[in-house]
Amino acid sequence: MRAVTQSQKLQNVCYEIRGPVLAEAKRLEEEGHRILKLNIGNPAPFGFEAPEDILVDVIQELPTAQGYSDSKGILSARRAVAQHYELRRFPRIDIEDIYLGNGVSELIVMAMQGLLDNGDEVLIPAPDYPLWTAAASLAGGTPVHYVCDEQADWAPDLDDIARKITDRTKAIVVINPNNPTGAVYPGEVLEGIADLARKHQLIVMADEIYDKILYDDAVHTSIAAIAPDLFCLTFNGLSKAYRVAGFRSGWLALSGPKEHARNYIEGLDILANMRLCANVPAQHAIQVALGGYQSINELILPGGRLLEQRNVAWELLNQIPGVSCTKPQGALYLFPRLDPKVHAIHDDQQFAFDLLREQKLLVVHGTGFNWATPDHFRIVFLPRVEELEDAIGRLGKFLSTYSQ
Ligand code: PLP
Repeated sequence: MRAVTQSQKLQNVCYEIRGPVLAEAKRLEEEGHRILKLNIGNPAPFGFEAPEDILVDVIQELPTAQGYSDSKGILSARRAVAQHYELRRFPRIDIEDIYLGNGVSELIVMAMQGLLDNGDEVLIPAPDYPLWTAAASLAGGTPVHYVCDEQADWAPDLDDIARKITDRTKAIVVINPNNPTGAVYPGEVLEGIADLARKHQLIVMADEIYDKILYDDAVHTSIAAIAPDLFCLTFNGLSKAYRVAGFRSGWLALSGPKEHARNYIEGLDILANMRLCANVPAQHAIQVALGGYQSINELILPGGRLLEQRNVAWELLNQIPGVSCTKPQGALYLFPRLDPKVHAIHDDQQFAFDLLREQKLLVVHGTGFNWATPDHFRIVFLPRVEELEDAIGRLGKFLSTYSQ
């Protein structure tokens, strides 16, 4: 029989966070091994439960949520998102500018599908949350990675961005706070990105899903708010700060001047119509999430569980010889560096496989985040302190003898 093969469109599409190393972890679990999973930013399984008022509202609204909604989403949720951004000084935003999606993920794919023709370029950070690169490739675009500088607390390198802009560049993606590095970008860096976007007429796509998960004195600034003259797409949702990743509930907000983007916006409408609507019960979580008590603060302020876990994980990682790690100012991840003089790793996916098989510890290799060299990996600090201590202890033991 003729082989059934995947389309050419998928040729350059990869999403390593759920790639072959995870498949191997599942196989080991089926054999009866217990795997310590530091691979996915999914708060609920680690005991970070959703705020009660969200659950109450969704349960209460369930009987009314049986039918499809408007393609862009229910009015109460879209109004809540628009008001939320108005208060944060997003320019020229109203209810028609809000699209609800099955998580930010769906909206990222839609934004890229609607924008890119074959060969169009999109600037994406390296390291990145790899869905951005995958979505640009799937849409026929060319992801062009700009470097974030580890020496500068992982801030985007503005010179590198400037060098990589061509006449095919259509958009720049900003992930702030960043996954996997945990960087929260200073205002000047965002101003610098906005200047480049202004000069070269680029659309800005800002992924701000971690904007409320901040540590120490970090302050989050939305690029849409400081660059009112730019057409920005801001993405956010309930998966992280509100701990309901399984609900698949996110939104996209268009802000700034839109007259010149009418045609693109019509394309977004077509894509929103084609998928009918986002999961309706989960749309009902949005208004109460944004308007209710912000319980995430209890987790990130002094005495909070997430803050404590970040501190412990960061300290322990830095104690391992040949490992160094920038202190994340936001999000749920650490992105440690393996000093090539101490740990000569040529294939970091192999490193992740070997760590998994030997220590039953699951991490994601750095090249899976489109980082060019095999000298980083990502862990999540969602597990409790005792588990993090155990995991990082195993990592240290593994590294003390590991070579490739
Ligand atoms: N953007 C970033 C930076 C993420 O880290 C994630 C999930 O880890 C997503 C988007 C996807 O979020 P959602 O659950 O809303 O699809």
